[in-house]
Amino acid sequence: MAGYLSESDFVMVEEGFSTRDLLEELTLGASQATTGKVAAFFVADLGAVVRKHFCFLKHLPRVRPFYAVGCNSSLGVLKVLAELGLGFSCANKAEMELVQHIGVPASKIICANPCKQVAQIKYAAKHGVRLLSFDNEVELAKVVKSHPSAKMVLCIATQDSHSLNHLSLRFGASLKSCRHLLENAKKSHVEVVGVSFHIGSGCPDPQAYAQSIADARLVFQMGEELGHTMNILDLGGGFPGLEGAKVRFEEMASVINSALDLYFPEGCGVDVLAELGRYYVTSAFTVAVSIVAKREVLDQASREEQTGTAPKSIVYHLDEGVYGVFNSVLFDNTCPTPALQKKPSADQPLYSSSLWGPAVEGCDCVAEGLWLPQLQVGDWLVFDNMGAYTVDTKSLLGGTQARRVTYAMSRLAWEALRGQLLPAEEDQDAEGVCKPLSCGWEITDTLCVGPVFTPASII
Ligand code: PLP
Repeated sequence: MAGYLSESDFVMVEEGFSTRDLLEELTLGASQATTGKVAAFFVADLGAVVRKHFCFLKHLPRVRPFYAVGCNSSLGVLKVLAELGLGFSCANKAEMELVQHIGVPASKIICANPCKQVAQIKYAAKHGVRLLSFDNEVELAKVVKSHPSAKMVLCIATQDSHSLNHLSLRFGASLKSCRHLLENAKKSHVEVVGVSFHIGSGCPDPQAYAQSIADARLVFQMGEELGHTMNILDLGGGFPGLEGAKVRFEEMASVINSALDLYFPEGCGVDVLAELGRYYVTSAFTVAVSIVAKREVLDQASREEQTGTAPKSIVYHLDEGVYGVFNSVLFDNTCPTPALQKKPSADQPLYSSSLWGPAVEGCDCVAEGLWLPQLQVGDWLVFDNMGAYTVDTKSLLGGTQARRVTYAMSRLAWEALRGQLLPAEEDQDAEGVCKPLSCGWEITDTLCVGPVFTPASII
């Protein structure tokens, strides 16, 4: 063990006790009735992060993973990944500071933002971070002035038009402009050591990796012709965080491995990296969000008839919305589905329900068309798969409030981490679905069925 993570950083979950049990305990202790105020909080299963890492090593043995800190910079995640030996991909000074603060050496950091403030470049120079990315002349000029001993990685644009997030709209040099950039770097005595790309998040086509790897090969040739020593290929992020993603991680890995064999065969002297964000953390985090207000709405027919019967739909107001932890609704088109803590009885009526965040405007809708039993102010809703781009977002409720995260890990995962070994039973799993390392986190039942709704589930 390198000493980044210790047993005091998390709750050790023994056999028969799940992180879901832990979350239930925490919600009981955080009732609105006693404190008068509530804030959403997370429970993170660090064993799930460890499991993801072993799956990564199994399927992409030639690729050295770096973690994209901006995806979730909570300390437990950074420490467990540092313990696993990952490098860190930072976008700014704050992220570099954070990982250096926990003891990560500068040699394990890449500043992978191709458009940085001069202050960030100066920070990298002062603190020994030499690997920096760039994709334009202006950035190159800034580096020449503020960090002449940097080792630059040229970020190229990708075919990401089908991805959910099109990073190439903002970042990445076109192939046409690469020779000119490499020439200018040479003239300015700046070392260019490799090529990076990012296929965008939610990319439905793993061939995008193959295309970008082929493009990178061309840029390597250009660089070598101009006298640069090119030895880093950075595959960026874009790997799915959910087990049920449209394109499975294993499928992407297989395409990548074939492309690497073709364009960067083993023994070619190139160090292959990837910068993964959501892959590592999405499924490890669950958030509990409290209902702060509710309103019952009669449907049109009931209104007209003035029957006074049960309301047809219920609007619930939560302490988090799409401008906070549910921002994936805006950016990734997700449809968050809550789990309920208490299973409703068979004769309990269900109501068409919608969930809204705290912003006083019409866009802060977290979910609609759910069929839920009558819930009360103070009840907690639980959402799984909430680890990516959630914890560090600002809340409209509290401005800059930090979100509380309770970390847990199964003893089995802890032992696996300490030995850096995948337990035998997990290794045999051909699908790479290595359940035992995680803390027995399961959604059991589906709440209801019907024509137009998203079923909620029960803890
Ligand atoms: N690398 C860079 C340069 C990024 O900008 C991002 C996210 O935007 C990532 C890696 C992580 O991407 P993902 O969460 O899709 O793995």
